[in-house]
Amino acid sequence: MRVQLTERQAAAREEYESFTRQAVAPHADAWDRAERLPEEFLEEFAARGLLGAAVPAGYGGAELDPITFGLLNEELGRGCSSVRSLVTVHGMASYAVARWGGDRQREHWLPRFATGGAIGAFALTEPGAGSDVKALRTTARRTDDGFRLTGQKRWITFGQRADVYLLFARLDGREAAFLVPRDAPGLTVRPVTGMLGTKASMLAELSLVDCLVAPEALLGRPGFGLAAVAASALELGRYSVAWGCVGLAQACLDASLDHADRRETFGVRLRDHQLVQRMIADMATGTAAARLLCQQAGWLRQDRSTESLHATWLAKYHASRTAFRSASDAVQVHGAQGCGDGHPVQRYLRDAKVMEIIEGSTELQQTTIAESAYHSRTRTTPTERVTA
Ligand SMILES: Cc1cc2nc3c(=O)[nH]c(=O)nc-3n(C[C@H](O)[C@H](O)[C@H](O)COP(=O)(O)OP(=O)(O)OC[C@H]3O[C@@H](n4cnc5c(N)ncnc54)[C@H](O)[C@@H]3O)c2cc1C
Repeated sequence: MRVQLTERQAAAREEYESFTRQAVAPHADAWDRAERLPEEFLEEFAARGLLGAAVPAGYGGAELDPITFGLLNEELGRGCSSVRSLVTVHGMASYAVARWGGDRQREHWLPRFATGGAIGAFALTEPGAGSDVKALRTTARRTDDGFRLTGQKRWITFGQRADVYLLFARLDGREAAFLVPRDAPGLTVRPVTGMLGTKASMLAELSLVDCLVAPEALLGRPGFGLAAVAASALELGRYSVAWGCVGLAQACLDASLDHADRRETFGVRLRDHQLVQRMIADMATGTAAARLLCQQAGWLRQDRSTESLHATWLAKYHASRTAFRSASDAVQVHGAQGCGDGHPVQRYLRDAKVMEIIEGSTELQQTTIAESAYHSRTRTTPTERVTA
C-alpha cells in the first residue's frame, strides 16, 4: 500500500496544519461556548477556498483529491470538530450536486458552494428516522409550480446557517432528493442548542408545511434519493468524519504528551508512570492505525475502487472509537484539569462521543462490518446499507 504523500499533498497538509494552529484551534473553546462559528471566520475560511474542497475545478472549486481532502479534515479535526463538520456537510451537498445534478443545478449551485456564496447542509434525519433512514416520512407532491414538501428534519448540522438543504422526501412513495433553498415559502428553521458535542456546528430543526420548491429542486431521479444520492453523499461524509477523528485523536495525544511532560506526582513526571504510558501508547497506536485505515480508504477512493465503500466503514469505525477512547484517556491523564470548563480535552471528549453516533453509529458499523466479513468468506456481495 502507498503511504507516501506527494509533494503537493505534503504542502497542502502543511498549509492546513498552519491555518488550523493559527486561526482555528485558539478559538475553538470560545466557539464551543458561544455555540456558533463567527461570520468573520466563515468569510476567511471561504476566502481561502476551503469551502470549495469538494467542488469540481470547472465550477471554481478546489476539487481536492481524496487524500488531500482527508488531510484537510484531519487537520481541521485536530483543531475544532465543528469546523470539520462544516466541511463534511457542505462537502456532501457539493458532491451530490456535482455528481447527480443537471447542468442548470450545477451552474447555479456549484460556483456559489465554491466561494461560500451559498452554504449547503444535509437534511435526512427525522424524528422517526435516524439510523433507519428508510423510515423517512417527509412527503413531496407535484404541483403546477413545482413540489410541495411537508415534514420535519432534525439535528441538521449548520442548519442555522445554510442557504440550501439537500433534503430527502417521499415523492409518490419513492425516495427522492431535493435542493430546498432556505427562503422557500413554508420552511421554518429553528436553532437547536445545548448539544453535548460539536456545539459550534449550529444545528437546526426544519419544519416544512406545504413548502414550495421549483421543479428544478428535484436532484436525481425519484426512487434514487436514498440508494444513490444520499448513499454516495453519506459515504463522503463518513470518509470526512473518519479523517476528522484521526485529527481529534491526534489532538488528544498531543495534549496528553504535553501535560504528562509537565505535571509531576510522587516526585516524578506523569510521563514516567507506567500506567500513564499505557494510555499514551494506546492513543499513539490507535491514532496511527486509524490514519492508515483512512489512507487506505483514500487510495481506494482515488482509484474509484468499489472496495472503498467497505474500507471507509472500517476507517470510520476504528477512527471514531479511537477518538472516543483517546479523549477519555486524555481527560484521565489531565485529571481534574481535564474536567475543567473550557479545557480542550473536555471538548474533545464531548465531540468524540458525537463521532460514534453520526455517519453510521458504532453499532450500525459493527453489524455492517460483521455481515461483510461473512460475505467475504463466502465471496458474496453484501447488500449496501444506507444509514445516516
Ligand atoms: C451532532 C449531530 C449532528 C448531526 N447532523 C446531522 C445532519 O447534518 N443531517 C442529518 O440528516 N442528521 C444529522 N444528525 C443525526 C444523525 O444522523 C443521527 O443521530 C444518527 O443517524 C442516529 O440516529 P438516531 O439519533 O435517531 O439514533 P437511533 O437510530 O434511534 O439509534 C439509537 C441507538 O440505537 C442503536 N441502534 C439503532 N438501530 C440499531 C440496530 N439495527 N442494531 C444495533 N443498534 C442499533 C444506534 O446505534 C444508537 O446507539 C446529527 C446528529 C448529531 C448528534
